[in-house]
Amino acid sequence: MKQIKEHFINGGFVQSIGTEVQNLYNPSTAEIIGTVQLGHKNDVDAAVSAAKRAFVSFSKTSLKERAEILDRLYRSVIEREKELNELAVLEYGSPLTATMGRTRAAAVSFLTAKEAMYEVQFKKEYENAIVLQEPLGVIGAITPWNANYVHICGKIAPAIAAGCTIVIKPSEFSALQTQLLSECFLSADIPAGIINVVNGTGAVAGGALVNHPDISMVSFTGSTSTGKIIRKQSTDLMKRVNLELGGKSPNILLDDCDLSKAIPLALQIAFSNSGQACHAGSRLIVPESRIDEIKILLIQEVNKLKIGSLYDADSVVGPMVNDIQFNRVQSYIKSGIDEGAELLVGGLGYPDGLGGWYVKPTVFVNVDSNMKIAKEEIFGPVLSVIAYETEDEAVAIANDTIYGLSGYISSASLERARKLALQMVSGRVIINRAVNIEPKSPFGGFKESGIGRTGWIYGIEAHLEPKVIAF
Ligand code: NAD
Repeated sequence: MKQIKEHFINGGFVQSIGTEVQNLYNPSTAEIIGTVQLGHKNDVDAAVSAAKRAFVSFSKTSLKERAEILDRLYRSVIEREKELNELAVLEYGSPLTATMGRTRAAAVSFLTAKEAMYEVQFKKEYENAIVLQEPLGVIGAITPWNANYVHICGKIAPAIAAGCTIVIKPSEFSALQTQLLSECFLSADIPAGIINVVNGTGAVAGGALVNHPDISMVSFTGSTSTGKIIRKQSTDLMKRVNLELGGKSPNILLDDCDLSKAIPLALQIAFSNSGQACHAGSRLIVPESRIDEIKILLIQEVNKLKIGSLYDADSVVGPMVNDIQFNRVQSYIKSGIDEGAELLVGGLGYPDGLGGWYVKPTVFVNVDSNMKIAKEEIFGPVLSVIAYETEDEAVAIANDTIYGLSGYISSASLERARKLALQMVSGRVIINRAVNIEPKSPFGGFKESGIGRTGWIYGIEAHLEPKVIAF
């Protein structure tokens, strides 16, 4: 059993000042597999001081120097890719195939930031002025547990490309994964203080970071409710915020789509990362005229999903990350039943032969947009199917949400789907696919799904402040 007692501060591992200890679990079995010593405000202070000192010289580095650092970080993560994957299976309960993709994506984010950095206009010269884009300062980053490596590396990469230093408070439920990733940062042998990682709870370590006067921007990925607290707390010191929050994304099937492809795709969109994905297409909006075929296919395809053997290449759905998440998903399934939705497949309790924090992949039909399972982010493998009569009605249902992170459309006609996409209030709309494969595009949400963007030059520019020298 591994005990994590240190934070990664100023280029090395230092003993935690905080003394409180939290257990770490294997979600497949609910067994304790380690402990983490949670950070105190003073641990955060030490990390911010180190980042502030490092900022003085790092903010003046050339793009070439930053590119070398980004390359080294990429290589150091790739070197330990296999171990990182194994820990994500153990501590997060991710199917191996899924985590392999995510770990690689985490490493590649350093290369993408390096490439994007050369596209950013750090300096523009006019006849009577120079417009500079200067690095903001020390970034305070707070990340969730659902794709630990992706979120941590995804915060570090644009910060470094912009010339900022960073203190990260990762999820307290991912400490084993974070420890190994921090070891990668150590072995990358980059100047001390550029990257700092403090374990701890949201309330203590997270709060200390958000309220620290030397943090220029809080870059947060997590729930909308926490995002609102962070935004309020950032107001007094007028801190910048970049908030990547929750979603309840619609997936519209147009009446011309090939259901034999669209239904498996819809399940992939809804249940990827075991449904613990901010961009999950958790509302399936379908033509009433084809509902009978859709119901048959949904039952068939859900029953084909492989659950429980995380090391099998075709394993799709793993357990929920912890008991809080397990109970949350159960309570939503119960609310769907209580509010009168039709339980098509799945339901309450464990899948056959499994324990830990596994839940049954579940599909409800006859869902009304006012039901909790249609309105609230469940963050588990629960799909709510809502029927429409006309295309206008489909768009109205899709947009009837406080969120606006992702949208999906399946159609035989790209032209028709693109026209529909223009009407969807969403940071992105993906047609006939589960993922956006364009690395040069931004990610982020409309409405309560967040503020600001990550990805490509958009993520780097979020770490810059324009400054004018006029003459
Ligand atoms: P969460 O909001 O509970 O926690 C996220 C992080 O914030 C954790 O590190 C936590 O310790 C910290 N935190 C909690 N309270 C805090 C506070 N008062 N002050 C400062 N920090 C605090 O979210 P979670 O349960 O870890 O993750 C799931 C949520 O994250 C979902 O809502 C999901 O949609 C969202 N998410 C969004 C994206 C995106 O890019 N939009 C990506 C992944 C996850």
